[in-house]
Amino acid sequence: MRRIAIIGGGPGGAHCASRLAEAGRDVTLFEPRTRFEKPCGGGLPARSLDSFPFLDDARLPARTLRTCQVIAPSGAAATIPLREPLRVFRRADLHQFLLGRATAAGARLVRERVVAFGPAGGGSAPPWTITSIDAGGRRAAHAPFDFLIAADGAGGFSRRRLAGGIPAAELTQAVGYYLPEPTEQTAVLKFCAEVPGYLWVFPRVDHDAAGICGPLGAMPVAALRTILDRFLAERYGPGCLARATAYAALIPGAPVNPQGLRLQGEGWALVGDTSRSVDPLTREGIHYAMESGELLAGALIAGAPETYSTLWRRNMGREFSWAGRHAAEFFAPRTIERLVALCARSPRTAGILSDLVSGRQRYRTLALRLLANGPVIAWQAIRPAPRPDGQLRSWQLKH
Ligand SMILES: Cc1cc2nc3c(=O)[nH]c(=O)nc-3n(C[C@H](O)[C@H](O)[C@H](O)COP(=O)(O)OP(=O)(O)OC[C@H]3O[C@@H](n4cnc5c(N)ncnc54)[C@H](O)[C@@H]3O)c2cc1C
Repeated sequence: MRRIAIIGGGPGGAHCASRLAEAGRDVTLFEPRTRFEKPCGGGLPARSLDSFPFLDDARLPARTLRTCQVIAPSGAAATIPLREPLRVFRRADLHQFLLGRATAAGARLVRERVVAFGPAGGGSAPPWTITSIDAGGRRAAHAPFDFLIAADGAGGFSRRRLAGGIPAAELTQAVGYYLPEPTEQTAVLKFCAEVPGYLWVFPRVDHDAAGICGPLGAMPVAALRTILDRFLAERYGPGCLARATAYAALIPGAPVNPQGLRLQGEGWALVGDTSRSVDPLTREGIHYAMESGELLAGALIAGAPETYSTLWRRNMGREFSWAGRHAAEFFAPRTIERLVALCARSPRTAGILSDLVSGRQRYRTLALRLLANGPVIAWQAIRPAPRPDGQLRSWQLKH
């Protein structure tokens, strides 16, 4: 493999470029934006720092959150101490940092938008020619490339061109705000009866990021925004949105059955959101974008690009499949009310949820762990709770 082109320098493309360039590969990364505040919460679980320890860098500012408040549709709430903190990044910082790593490793960065690509010699096989356009509107052709990596995110065009669009039923609609006055000290996750998704507030270094997400088409975008606005106004006061920046975006979740997912073809592969490497339950995608970039880079370095799809399915596909199959059940108001009530009463349950937030608890072993901890959880849930005056009172779970 002589020359590799990557379209898009988000977490997926930029990390893939770093890994390939570190291994001495000839990599050209097309990314028009130097600092890019992509619509996103920016939350990264502790597990990501194990996989990508270079993110723990003083040059990359992050907010470290040690608690997470979960709020049920009824308004019942529990604050969970996070055994391992959640890091929250401004996406512009992360973008610049990862691009910097890629160029430091030796990737060639072309600050231009790709507008077309195709096989240089006609037909459908490599080598590829890429056409880009710079900020001044000038077009340039780049060729030849032996391998093409499409990492231009959910809004990019290359996935549609190589592997077709994503069915609307498997997309998530998100709307959100950047709130210029940082107010929160904790991560906030609020669940609503109206939509099988959730609302979040993640404090960042100099502002708060708030948003809400749910399946595309579950309710009109305006209705999603109304729920978010109402929650924010109640929590931070009616003027809190006066200087806020609003956005709307789609999130491409992994399908329930990832076996049939097309991730690559002759001389090309998809990475990050284009490969639908997003947890369909939490909609977490930064870690998986980087992991997919890592897996593809490993396969290319090993001279076996065809192994990428198998590696993807083994590393991510099974967890995504579980998440997709159980998402509706998880977001059912009754489940959430129970979960929040249990977290408020049972440190053991709160610990398990903390491990879920930090990415330590795999979905597929969650039921087993809950079962094994059942007696302790049950005791913690029904034992009399101490009152503020130190007296004991009887307590019953309502749900
Ligand atoms: C509202 C919202 C909240 C989210 N919150 C979280 C969260 O808290 N935690 C989490 O882990 N995930 C979150 N996600 C998901 C996460 O943002 C994505 O999964 C992740 O950014 C995917 O990375 P990527 O590299 O595949 O794509 P992107 O980050 O979208 O990067 C794609 C890059 O391609 C570039 N590009 C696009 N078109 C072209 C072109 N034609 N030529 C060249 N370059 C191009 C863009 O400039 C961009 O830099 C959220 C998503 C949304 C929408």
